[in-house]
Amino acid sequence: MISYGRQTIGDDDINEVVKVLSGDWLTQGPTVNKFESNLNEFFNSDYCVAVANGTAALHLVAIAMGWSKDDIIITSPITFLASANCIEYVNATTDFVDIDPKTYTIDLNLLEQKIKYLDQSGKKVKAIIGVDFAGHPCHWREIKQIADRYEISLINDNCHSFGSSINGDTSYAIKYADFVTQSFHPVKHITTGEGGAIFTKDKGMYEKLKLLRSHGMTKNSNIVKNSDGPWYYEMHELGYNYRITDFQCALGLSQLKKINNFVEMRRAIAKIYDKAFKPINLFKVPYVMDSIGHSYHLYPLCIDFDKSNHSKKLLFEHLRKKNIFLQVHYIPVHLQPYYKNKYGFKNGDFPVSEKFYESEISLPIFPTLKNSDQSFVIDVLKSFFKI
Ligand SMILES: *Cc1c(COP(=O)(O)O)cnc(C)c1O
Repeated sequence: MISYGRQTIGDDDINEVVKVLSGDWLTQGPTVNKFESNLNEFFNSDYCVAVANGTAALHLVAIAMGWSKDDIIITSPITFLASANCIEYVNATTDFVDIDPKTYTIDLNLLEQKIKYLDQSGKKVKAIIGVDFAGHPCHWREIKQIADRYEISLINDNCHSFGSSINGDTSYAIKYADFVTQSFHPVKHITTGEGGAIFTKDKGMYEKLKLLRSHGMTKNSNIVKNSDGPWYYEMHELGYNYRITDFQCALGLSQLKKINNFVEMRRAIAKIYDKAFKPINLFKVPYVMDSIGHSYHLYPLCIDFDKSNHSKKLLFEHLRKKNIFLQVHYIPVHLQPYYKNKYGFKNGDFPVSEKFYESEISLPIFPTLKNSDQSFVIDVLKSFFKI
């Protein structure tokens, strides 16, 4: 079976996990701190909080930011549910801005128009959650200019873009955003099984996030004023158990050592797809801006199904018969029944995203994808469309 993504685990990874498993700390131990510190180094960030998964990372950011009912938070319809769901978890108001048809990230002009319009009608956009879709960063420099003008916070849902760069800088994310979130799910660039992380340069926020990760419990003498004794702890804010284990972090540390190689291998696979599909009119390969180093969490291929006289459904059925299991990233979030029912979103609200959904398929891309399997996928696709 060939899938669109999967983990790359070596004996070196397994050895590191086993070492921690036979040690003293399975959770809340030194390997978590080490993982956080190495992640900080990679992202050139001041603070990092490793958590249970990428969704928990977004949820904790939403709580730490103190979003509430009348706060409007904008994200992209072409993302995983969690980018929007984190807004719903804290009962704030979710809104979307369509994607730009080239990079598939949030559209700059539409973003500014929407913020201006809402501002003029007395509504406040509190934050933007930009998604560096597939591994192509948003137009962060320009987004930051808009955000500064309207006093809006920026969150980079960076779950697709570990190892991406802007002007050669792989630590661009925290340069522009107030918070950056990562996921270490097995399909992402590096994995801890389940896992995630939050980056910030704000010490106060960092301390808050650390408390929220573990029930809001603290023994810190700056917060706890009247201790009953050494056992004493207090809870001032409602937190969760969103901790990650030490053996997961051991895996993360070992994976992190190989990130550059992982990204290179993804780029090499993308290059082969580009070469095969770029000359074909029916297909549109991912566009990469000159300033961008794409890290190819996904390889989104767009197919003009109208022109092809074949439906996407037929293609998927055909591929499954050949043991190729692809995915579509994503069903636009505003068209999910929950969001339609709650906000009245409907077909036609974000036409570029909807068109993208109709045409997109995510081709297999992961470091261990065999050359022969990739050639097979290319051949099956071409022969289906009789090219
Ligand atoms: C994977 C992903 C998440 C959520 O991560 P989990 O670790 O699965 O909770 C959030 N946003 C985006 C864009 C993702 O791709």
